[in-house]
Amino acid sequence: MQIVMIGAGYVGLVSGACFSDFGHNVICVDKDEDRIAALRQARIPIFEPGLADLVERNVRAGRLSFTADASSAVPGADVVFLAVGTPSRRGDGFADLSFIYAAVREIVPLMAENGVIATKSTVPVGTGDEIERIVRELRPEASIAVVSNPEFLREGAAIDDFKRPDRIVIGTDDACARAVMGEVYRPLYLNAAPLVFVSRPTAEVIKYAANAFLATKITFINEIADLCEQVGANVSDVARGIGLDKRIGPKFLHAGPGYGGSCFPKDTLALVKSANDHGVAMRVVEAVVAVNDQRKRAMARKVVTACGGSVRGKRIAVLGLTFKPNTDDMREAPSLSIIRALQDGGAIVHAHDPEGESQARELLSDVTYFADAYSCAEGADAIVIVTEWEAFRALDLARLRTLLHTPVLVDLRNVYPPDEVKRHGFTYVGIGRPTDM
Ligand code: NAD
Repeated sequence: MQIVMIGAGYVGLVSGACFSDFGHNVICVDKDEDRIAALRQARIPIFEPGLADLVERNVRAGRLSFTADASSAVPGADVVFLAVGTPSRRGDGFADLSFIYAAVREIVPLMAENGVIATKSTVPVGTGDEIERIVRELRPEASIAVVSNPEFLREGAAIDDFKRPDRIVIGTDDACARAVMGEVYRPLYLNAAPLVFVSRPTAEVIKYAANAFLATKITFINEIADLCEQVGANVSDVARGIGLDKRIGPKFLHAGPGYGGSCFPKDTLALVKSANDHGVAMRVVEAVVAVNDQRKRAMARKVVTACGGSVRGKRIAVLGLTFKPNTDDMREAPSLSIIRALQDGGAIVHAHDPEGESQARELLSDVTYFADAYSCAEGADAIVIVTEWEAFRALDLARLRTLLHTPVLVDLRNVYPPDEVKRHGFTYVGIGRPTDM
């Protein structure tokens, strides 16, 4: 099949590369010409494990190509996927759909009579109807179908998630479009694919409901962690104790500094706003948004307390900046709020991240970056683990102890057993577990 991906970001590039790996012919279109120039020279603009090899292999096989010019790609396409950004609109938190509608207006005049537009971007319920309205306005004679096909991949594990998804949601009432989408995904499965065919608005709601539910689970365990700290309980044991219950499940029960990233913060907010527009209160999700926002900055207070009540003039070594490991994505990362709060308190921030440094440099000022955890820790008054990269999971604590000015470890991901850290002479502060403080 001929597939065109509009937007070659985390979702478009991974989806395009994976589709081509399954034998489809894919052209990724991005209006960012630098990005396209880089991709054409086999330089991958994002960090995602395995992506460089996947792209290179399929470009070499002639199944994957890149262009900034939609008019050279769209006319021959069976399906045009929209994978452009839908960020939070500045000021009011609604999803900014301007990239979606601009892309639709650009591609519709170029599409085949019976082509399919499949929206992979996360869009509020009703967006598919508006896309369809634009299609009918621009091409009243054509029978172009508009399908919702939300994407559930996770950065850091995106290729595996895309190739082996728990489910593929396809929202359309159009029988031909269903058949086309079934054909697009058929190669992913030898047996029956976990395709969930639903109406278009249902598919749009599924995506937001899934992200809001996961964000709620994280926020729930984070509040339980706060309670554990006050009563001497251990949140990791609580998470295991509840997670073994199959009705609850063990995933997304790791207490930490609050969720971040390019999806949960904007999608929870957009769900609240779009539900309100339909006269529906989303009080649970509203509370999740508020609790999570406060939590990120509150993590800096943990560091301040661990440093004896003030960080003024103190050197704080922050390990991990990206919102989670195995990505270079800094969007809404907890590290941003934590570092700014520490700087507000007068701290001198040193930082190291295996992949996120260049994106972090664009978002943070007055931070000194180091090439590894040990040089970052030299002379510091505390180490703060913000992102649980594998490189931080087995640090040489004895070596760190000799490098630090004051042996304080604030472990916002509960990577280390407190007893082991304390044995090396550190003051240890974790999340929701008995600490020294
Ligand atoms: P991104 O910002 O990484 O990429 C979007 C790309 O679209 C950019 O490269 C931009 O230049 C390009 N673009 C914008 N308008 C264009 C146009 N008219 N023509 C061609 N290219 C255009 O975004 P992303 O993280 O890949 O997210 C895309 C969508 O997928 C969002 O709605 C997001 O919520 C959703 N999503 C993201 C993830 C994730 O983990 N990142 C997971 C699931 C769903």
